[in-house]
Amino acid sequence: MNVLVVGGAGYIGSHAVRLLLDAGHSVTVYDNLSRGHRGAVPEGLLVEGELSDTAKVVKTLRDKKIDAVMHFAAFALVNESVNDPALYYRNNVIDAVNLLDAMREADVKKIVFSSTTATYGEPEIVPIPETTPQNPINPYGFTKLVFEHALADYASAYGFGYAALRYFNAAGARPDGSIGEDHDPESHLIPIVLQVALGQRDEITVFGDDYATEDGTCVRDYIHVHDLGDAHLLALEKIELGKGLRVNLGTGRGTSVREIIEACREVTGHPIPEKMGPRRAGDPPKLVADARLAKELLGWEPKYMDVKSMVETAWKWHQSHPHGYAK
Ligand code: UDP
Repeated sequence: MNVLVVGGAGYIGSHAVRLLLDAGHSVTVYDNLSRGHRGAVPEGLLVEGELSDTAKVVKTLRDKKIDAVMHFAAFALVNESVNDPALYYRNNVIDAVNLLDAMREADVKKIVFSSTTATYGEPEIVPIPETTPQNPINPYGFTKLVFEHALADYASAYGFGYAALRYFNAAGARPDGSIGEDHDPESHLIPIVLQVALGQRDEITVFGDDYATEDGTCVRDYIHVHDLGDAHLLALEKIELGKGLRVNLGTGRGTSVREIIEACREVTGHPIPEKMGPRRAGDPPKLVADARLAKELLGWEPKYMDVKSMVETAWKWHQSHPHGYAK
């Protein structure tokens, strides 16, 4: 297929691009490089542009004879969304709906969308099945939920076919170490811990150890970027016009902040000093996927099940690119 990867210069998008190429698809990346990296995109695939530039999106869809779109181009920081919701509604909703309308104009109707566990808010039942009521607790989660609704409405009214993939915590890097996670500022646990191992930070601050979990720290379901990417390829094959798939992407296993730090110590051989800090606002104690539906609907099976194997790939990337894509 000819696939347009919107946001293909970002962390998860860039991994999906490589997997699409590995599988023999033709790929075009559309990205404004506001948060993505030119160096994450293979030579010759990048169209630099804004989603608000409808004419350019339509032209790209037509020129490249695009069959399907993968949409990764969203902002994804909870705190930032609380402080600057306008940024999130514009980028994650308005620009994303522009993309759908460009697709209508170019008669491209298949889309795989990066949704999130943040659409569930603070679920009462964990592991979290897809039937859990979606009650986001921050603007980020709301913007993703709004777009899930837009997709459902575009499917029934205009015959779009879509997959909304609700990611849990993306982790790791391409196993060859060529691409990986590079956010500025970095807020995610694993890269921050590995920055301590690299000597770029003195210590890791654990955001709270008084949660109602086994060791008192928050539990998350970490899922390797390659497994996320694989699910996108499988979803692409399963999409039917007029219908939508809404599935969780996680391993179904929970790992605490303490366990992540310990796994990073084992992988890096570095002591990684930690200090206890206050809770971070808006952190639910435990988010773990009920991951059965993705297996059933997509035939998807994550290959990286333990966090140590995920951290090993991340460590390879961080060691070979201590300053990310910047030289
Ligand atoms: N966390 C932490 N210290 C840090 C960064 C994160 O203790 O410096 C914790 C955070 O509170 C959460 C978990 O690590 O419980 C994962 O956070 P991350 O930001 O990586 O992902 P999130 O679950 O927020 O999407």
